Amino acid sequence: MSKSSRVLVLNCGSSSLKFALIDPHSGALDLSGMGDAFGQGEPTVSWKFNGDKQCTTLPAEARHAEVIRFLVNEILSDCPDLRDNLVAIGHRVVHGGEKFSHSVLIDDAVISTIQDCVALAPLHNPAALHGIEAAHEAFPGLPQVAVFDTAFHQSMPRHAYIYALPYELYRDHGIRRYGMHGTSHRYVTERAAELLNLPVNEVNIISAHLGNGASITAVHNGHSVDTSMGLTPLEGLVMGTRSGDVDPGLLLHLSSRLDYCLKEINDMLNKKSGLLGISELSSDCRALEQAASEGHDGAQLALDIFCYRLAKYIASYHGVLPQVDALVFTGGIGENSSLVRQKTLAHLSGLGYALDEARNQRARFGEEGPISTEQSAVTLVIPTNEEWVIARDAAGLVPPTSPNSDPCSRE
Ligand code: ADP
Repeated sequence: MSKSSRVLVLNCGSSSLKFALIDPHSGALDLSGMGDAFGQGEPTVSWKFNGDKQCTTLPAEARHAEVIRFLVNEILSDCPDLRDNLVAIGHRVVHGGEKFSHSVLIDDAVISTIQDCVALAPLHNPAALHGIEAAHEAFPGLPQVAVFDTAFHQSMPRHAYIYALPYELYRDHGIRRYGMHGTSHRYVTERAAELLNLPVNEVNIISAHLGNGASITAVHNGHSVDTSMGLTPLEGLVMGTRSGDVDPGLLLHLSSRLDYCLKEINDMLNKKSGLLGISELSSDCRALEQAASEGHDGAQLALDIFCYRLAKYIASYHGVLPQVDALVFTGGIGENSSLVRQKTLAHLSGLGYALDEARNQRARFGEEGPISTEQSAVTLVIPTNEEWVIARDAAGLVPPTSPNSDPCSRE
């Protein structure tokens, strides 16, 4: 593949589509943008190219296909060089079930398996399928690759992924822990290995991806061996609006004693809980830090619980891993909130964690590196880059027969 090769990365959500044109060798971003507010009256598409930001509205019925057509006809038509250098399209697909432990070139069988996993990701997998179909029409003949959020966690052992429920639920219905954010945890693992000067298959880390959604993964010899999200992205850590772990008896209590219906329970656990639910103010960490500093008790409590629960997971993963080469913070909160990092590690001095105050304060806005003191357990901040992983995987899977293939990328 020539140095000018590019990959189009598509991330289709239920009401949005994020796109990025990436150099798979360097990770450099030529163009990025987002179609948003599908089905909400006035969808928009915004994009950034050569430092210029633009935005326009689309017809009310616009969805994934219309955004991709707009990208081809309106945005890329102004930059033929980029269009001509496209070698592949990489799709983020949330759920690959037990079928995919790696990224794959999309064919009819792959589409059918993604379809089979719709029950496990009812909002996300249908959106990915729309995006795959629309991209196929817009870029006929260009190889398309699916990169699954669940793939990295397929290495978990049975004792980590089977729930203590009747086994037939797993056997007959695939009910088990799958985990999410796998592409981010994988990127962080590979990057941590580089920073620690270790081969990837020898690195042991705890990777904490803290964004609006949050999950934490125990990585042994480069492989995920446990992670906090489960059958759905609701399990595990406290998140922006999601509860994370609760007593399952709570659901019965809400239903039988407080007359909640299923939809109300679903809304409450997914959209009204977490930082927002506790603080009664906001799901946004930055806003809560500000409010807490001004004495807002709910904001303070939300941050306290977020950090305490995170610390408990970190401690438990020390029990899972034979050794921990580094704890890594990533995601919008992990990369930027010195307060969350400091409050979390304050619970963990017994495990040898201690922050270098100046390094911790400096690590934000894309800064990468260690934030621990020289003598303490290694703690790193690594800004995640899921798009680059998707672009690399896609470029590496371009078939050798394709005129766009990259003999150098298949090592
Ligand atoms: P998503 O999961 O939607 O990709 P992000 O990874 O972008 O989310 O993370 C969003 C979260 O990061 C928000 O809670 C936001 O407040 C938080 N965040 C971003 N910048 C900062 C900052 N400077 N300080 C504290 N929190 C921040």
